[in-house]
Amino acid sequence: MIENFDFDAVDEATIRRERAKARDLRKTRWWQQKTSSGLCYYCSKKVLYKDVTMDHLVPLARGGRSSKDNLVPCCKDCNNKKKNMLPLEWEAYQEGLAEKK
Ligand SMILES: [Zn+2]
Repeated sequence: MIENFDFDAVDEATIRRERAKARDLRKTRWWQQKTSSGLCYYCSKKVLYKDVTMDHLVPLARGGRSSKDNLVPCCKDCNNKKKNMLPLEWEAYQEGLAEKK
């Protein structure tokens, strides 16, 4: 049964498969190197290794995939805030925050 079908709809099976792929990538040398700077991709703050989260630039729910060029290390704060935003939406969100300062 398909509800609310549109071009953004991603089925559960795909999301599960891509999440598993992301988990596997976390164990690779590639990810170790990617996180070696210890900096959050978004806010450039120093992040403790245990607190580094893996984020999809284009979220899985929006059609993104667990490919190396779509995965970045970031802090929990940014990950929580970004959620399912697309890169452009996230940029606009951050610019909005900057303007309020
Ligand atoms: Zn951050």
